[in-house]
Amino acid sequence: MKPILYRIAPAHLAGHLFRVQIHIHKPLPQGQRLSLPTWIPGSYLVRDFSRHVQQLSANSHGRPLRIQKIDNHSWQIEPCARSIDIEYWVYAWDLSVRAAHVDETHAFFNGSSVFLQVDGQEQLPCLVDIQPPSGTTARQWQVYTSLPEASKHPQGAQRHGFGMYQAPNYDALIDHPVEMGRPAVVSFTAHGALHEMVFTGLMPNVDLERIARDAQRICEYQIALFEPKTKKAPFLDSSDRYVFMTMVTGSDYGGLEHRASTALMASRSDLPVLGDDSLSDGYLQFLGLVSHEYFHTWNVKRIKPQVFAPYRLQQATPTSLLWIFEGFTSYYDDAVLYRCGLINQERYLQLLSKTITSVQNTPGRLKQSVAESSFDAWTKYYKQDENSPNSIISYYTKGALVALSLDLIIRQASGNTRSLDDVMRLLWKVYGRRFYTRKPDLGLQEEDILGLFLRATGVDISQALSDFVYGTVELPLKKLCKRHGFALTTQATPTPSLHVKTRNSQGQCQLAVVYDNGAAQQGGLSAGDTLVAIDNIRVDAQNLPTLLQRYRVGDRVRVHVFRRDELRQFSVRLKSEYSTYRIEPLSDKPW
Ligand code: ZN
Repeated sequence: MKPILYRIAPAHLAGHLFRVQIHIHKPLPQGQRLSLPTWIPGSYLVRDFSRHVQQLSANSHGRPLRIQKIDNHSWQIEPCARSIDIEYWVYAWDLSVRAAHVDETHAFFNGSSVFLQVDGQEQLPCLVDIQPPSGTTARQWQVYTSLPEASKHPQGAQRHGFGMYQAPNYDALIDHPVEMGRPAVVSFTAHGALHEMVFTGLMPNVDLERIARDAQRICEYQIALFEPKTKKAPFLDSSDRYVFMTMVTGSDYGGLEHRASTALMASRSDLPVLGDDSLSDGYLQFLGLVSHEYFHTWNVKRIKPQVFAPYRLQQATPTSLLWIFEGFTSYYDDAVLYRCGLINQERYLQLLSKTITSVQNTPGRLKQSVAESSFDAWTKYYKQDENSPNSIISYYTKGALVALSLDLIIRQASGNTRSLDDVMRLLWKVYGRRFYTRKPDLGLQEEDILGLFLRATGVDISQALSDFVYGTVELPLKKLCKRHGFALTTQATPTPSLHVKTRNSQGQCQLAVVYDNGAAQQGGLSAGDTLVAIDNIRVDAQNLPTLLQRYRVGDRVRVHVFRRDELRQFSVRLKSEYSTYRIEPLSDKPW
């Protein structure tokens, strides 16, 4: 069978448009359907990427064909016996890791935003002709992607060049984002495998060599964690290199994992500057992101929940297992920074303490289990509102603490001869490694978990699962830490508090969140209220903490607020601020 041929060009930079063409050699006889994914794997929200598709047309050897839109993201072309050509434009002005973005400085796309699927032919190999924009500004642009070059094709691209690239099927085609432009680039090898780091955006004097050195340690550690003997990088089943593609801006943060690459957003100020060897919190956060997305190369891109094997991109696909795929990944991202020597134990314990503080101060942890949080990601975690902290818990942070708890439980029960690492290696062996041999996807099912833990470690975690994963029982972190030579302590700050989260609304102090059973809620305040005065002194966007310092816990204050346009008065009894948690070693004994 001849491959599906795609051609894409950033054809109108000022209008932020890609032009896409598809040549379908053999359309289905009943009339070919085309569709675009409604969501992108790794980001669990229906985004309707099709809203950016415009001017779709089809012809067969010059004869125009009728097209009918049959639902929000599918098109039906009239039956046609000969090959057909499709053309359309995609508006690309979403500066995020999830969609596509074009201007005169660069072009970036995820295949799920730009490439229509040829329904019923999604298993055919794909060729992609990536074309440069016209005009002089883009003359020196290059192409960065983990998509392999079509080296045997006459128009096969050279490394970093425009021309023909290839994918074995549609699923692979849309899992290799592409960056074009003149980014800053640094590369390294990890256990012999090539890694490229590509940075787009202004970032004067960034120490690229240092970033590469640090990322190399992270990658080598993770490769050896999963493949202690062979040290084989996981992405070699899909590409001969791994690409970190980072968009650098003033204040963004985030990442999205792919099979042989990741798209990241980083804040300029988080990247290290030449000549400054300190490890800032911002740079630590960036390294944590690198570690997190790279860990996904195993955990979610290859070891995946059964409902993602294969992905069904036409509808929301909930899974109750994100506590493993995001939670365990969040546990390992920082743990790897410590284990590979980039941070010391004290710095690592600070990161863990921060996660514990965040989970323990979220009232929703007592109402929603991490399994429920995982399943409801599409409608709750990804659609947060003022009630979210009171009703949901993050499968990232709570999932990371579940991983920590399970790790400590296994280490204790096995006399420190087994750990969560053994579980990860078994998951890799059963569900991940099969990608090298092109066996069909096999996904993890909930009912397999208990047996896998038992097989990998000899430890029965059924009670822990029902309490901490399917239930909302408080994690026994204090006890577990103590048994491993650490003290988990809480410190209540003496400062009185309203127990609210505020935001600056045009210079005024508006309540964004009113925490359950906190001082403000018990006094009658609601999210959305604008604070006017406390004991008749004006509250502005900044001065609330200073005003509250005049009081003691237990004092009653008179609070004036505007609820909509109505002035209301409440009497609020101040409570103590929520506690912060700290883990410290009981002795000098290492972990
Ligand atoms: Zn993640």
